[in-house]
Amino acid sequence: MKIRYFDNAATTKVKKEVVDKMFPYFVESYGNPSSLYTLGRTAKVGIEEARRQVADLIHCDKNEIYFTSGGTESDNTALKGIMYLNKNKGKHIITTKIEHHAILNTCKTLEENGYKVTYLNVDKDGIVNLQELVNAITEDTVLISVMFANNEIGSIQPIKKIGEIAKEKGIIFHTDAVQACGNVKIDVKEMHIDMLSLSGHKMGAPKGIGALYVHKNMEFKNLIDGGHQERDKRAGTENVPGMIGLGEACKIAKNNMENHVNRLKELRDMYFSEVKNQIPDIKINGSMEHRLPGNSNISFKNVNGNELLMKLDEKGICASAGSACSSGSSIPSHVLTAIGLESKYAEGTLRVTFGDENTKEDVEYLVENLAKMIKEIRANL
Ligand SMILES: *Cc1c(COP(=O)(O)O)cnc(C)c1O
Repeated sequence: MKIRYFDNAATTKVKKEVVDKMFPYFVESYGNPSSLYTLGRTAKVGIEEARRQVADLIHCDKNEIYFTSGGTESDNTALKGIMYLNKNKGKHIITTKIEHHAILNTCKTLEENGYKVTYLNVDKDGIVNLQELVNAITEDTVLISVMFANNEIGSIQPIKKIGEIAKEKGIIFHTDAVQACGNVKIDVKEMHIDMLSLSGHKMGAPKGIGALYVHKNMEFKNLIDGGHQERDKRAGTENVPGMIGLGEACKIAKNNMENHVNRLKELRDMYFSEVKNQIPDIKINGSMEHRLPGNSNISFKNVNGNELLMKLDEKGICASAGSACSSGSSIPSHVLTAIGLESKYAEGTLRVTFGDENTKEDVEYLVENLAKMIKEIRANL
C-alpha cells in the first residue's frame, strides 16, 4: 500500500540532495576533524562550510553557530547554560505554557534546583500576550524563552516584539525555532534574538543533529565536558555527516523558501476547505493569520483521536493526534488545554502537517477517507 505521510512536524524524510552531500563524509572524508593530516582537514573544511550555511539561513555570523545533537540538546544548553552562568545575577525565567517538552522539562529541572519559572498563558489562537510578558518581568529575570512556532497548532509568536521588549529590559532572549526554521523567514539580528534552537530532522536533514545560535557577545556554560570541539562549548568528536547534512538542508531551505511555503499553504488551505465542506462539527485550532504554512490542527466533535489514527493507518495515512508526545493517552495535550479547547472536541484532534512530497491527490485521498471514518465513528457512539 502506498504510504501518505502527513506528519512532517514529527519528523521529515531526509532529502535526496542531503543524503548525496553526506555520503562522501562516511566513506571518503571520514577523518577526525581534529586531526592535522589532509583527511581530517577535509572534514574540518566541510564542517565550517556547513556552519556558514546554517548561519546564512538565520542571518548570523558563522561563529555564532554551535552544532548539537538536536533541538532537545540546543534547548537544554540555552536554558541551563545561561541560568547556571548567571546564577548570581538572577534566578527567574519567563516561558510559555505551550512550549515543547524539551523546554518545559528543562524548566522543571531548573525549578527543582531553586530557579523560578513563569509560564505565560496564550489566547485561544495560541498567541502570547505582550502585556502579560512585560508584567511578568522582575529584577530577578535573566532569560525569556518563547518558541517561534508551535509544533501542535502551528501558531507563530510575535518574536520581533518579544525581542524588542527583552532588549529594552536587558534580558536574554532565547527562541525554540525548531518548527519555524525553513518555514518562516528568520533574521536573528533584526528580531533581537540572542539564542535560537534548530533541529535537522524537522527540515529534511537526519535525526541527531541540530544547532544552537548564540549572539557573539553572550557567554554560556557548556553542558558536555570533554575535548575542545565546538570552541569548547560542546565536547565530543563531531557528527561530521550530520553537520554536512544540516548545512545542505539549510541551504536548500534558504534558496527554496518561497516556493516551499506557497506549496504547503496551498495544500493546507485545500485541506481546510475540503474538511469544512465535507465534515460537520469541527473546530480548527490555532491562528489562521499567524500560522506555519504546513500546519493543520482540527478537532472533530465526539470522535476518539486514537481510534481515528488507527483507521487512517489501515489506509496508509500517517498523521498525529494532538501531539506526538501524548499519543497513546486520551488526555488533551498541554497545548490544547492552554487554548481552552473543550474536551468533547479535544479528544478528537488530528494534526496533519504537510511536506514537500505531498500532492493534491494525497489531500483528496485523505479527506475522502477522513469523512467516511468520522461518519462511522460517530454512528457507533
Ligand atoms: C522536535 C522539536 C524539538 C526537539 O528536537 P529534537 O531534534 O527531536 O531533539 C524541540 N522543539 C520543538 C518545537 C520541536 O518541534
